[in-house]
Amino acid sequence: MLDAKPAAKPVKTLVEVRGLKMYFPIHTGLLRAHTGDVKAVDDVSFDILEGETLGLVGESGCGKSTCGRALIRLYDITSGSVKIDGTEIGHADQTRLRKMRPTMQMVFQDPQASLNPRMTVADIISEPLSEHTTLSKTDKLKRIYELMDAVGLNRRFANRYPHEFSGGQRQRIGIARALALNPKFIVCDEPIAALDVSIQAQVVNLLEQLQDEFGLTYLFISHDLSMVRHIADRIAVMYLGKMVELGPRDPVYDSPLHPYTEALLSAVPEPDPSLEKTRERIILKGDVPSPANPPKGCNFCTRCPKVMDICRQIEPEFREAEPGRFVACHLYDQNNKTTAGATGGTEADNEHFQQGETK
Ligand code: SF4
Repeated sequence: MLDAKPAAKPVKTLVEVRGLKMYFPIHTGLLRAHTGDVKAVDDVSFDILEGETLGLVGESGCGKSTCGRALIRLYDITSGSVKIDGTEIGHADQTRLRKMRPTMQMVFQDPQASLNPRMTVADIISEPLSEHTTLSKTDKLKRIYELMDAVGLNRRFANRYPHEFSGGQRQRIGIARALALNPKFIVCDEPIAALDVSIQAQVVNLLEQLQDEFGLTYLFISHDLSMVRHIADRIAVMYLGKMVELGPRDPVYDSPLHPYTEALLSAVPEPDPSLEKTRERIILKGDVPSPANPPKGCNFCTRCPKVMDICRQIEPEFREAEPGRFVACHLYDQNNKTTAGATGGTEADNEHFQQGETK
């Protein structure tokens, strides 16, 4: 059984995202004319505070993985700004990006697919060291052993190949590789989804332990809402390429603001059997619309149980409905005193997205 994570008070913003768009062009016809775009991430703004874990949740296809990859520039973004530790990387050239690589790393979902089967564990972990450092052979081996110790892999396995390990051990190799260059920020993209349930908690506990030890900041992308509740300080919810809600973990889980978050969380089983009996599941009707052709107005209006006329006409702004809690929904228009929009990178925005009152 996992223990609740102790409260943390992060201090500064490490990752600052403003108006991030990641569109994939659609080409059709003989001439491959550009006829539209899949709007995988559509004008998303948020901050990640140093030392915190931001849980990014949503159904598959909502754009959460694309968002994570765009943040560390595994994709060339369509527009917007991404600053990591004060450095703009959203539109940085390859030379600058290469310099920034050690700061930001990724742990992938499928450790089997993300590790080269022809390389030994030592080769895999030392790859980023060879690429970005001038360490001698002896120092490199020392570092490999340090990293293997940190992730709980026996040093004797350094010359073995990925297929000789279990799924959990392979994920540890992936984590060791991600840690090799002392990153500050790690995007964990569904890091436990491909693992047996019995192993999942071990990997999550390892990630938490490494976060404490090395002061890491995580974007933890997952569809496992129970696991996200355990590990995250704040929660961001995406639907159809947009961020619909962002706030501290417990308030979001206990009293979600956005109707989509409400529906999503109503599907999470309660560990307490008496509460589980009274849990009301909200079943959303209809399919998720295509991100190539999202509905007019609020992109959730085709499925929302609380839809109003205005929702089909005007897109709701993503703004602060309660201190530290952001939502994109017309239900909160009246109550909301905040006039700042969700994008633009003004000073007011910066303050808004830096709500650090976690837990
Ligand atoms: Fe539902 Fe309207 Fe809010 Fe969208 S804006 S989530 S359709 S109530």
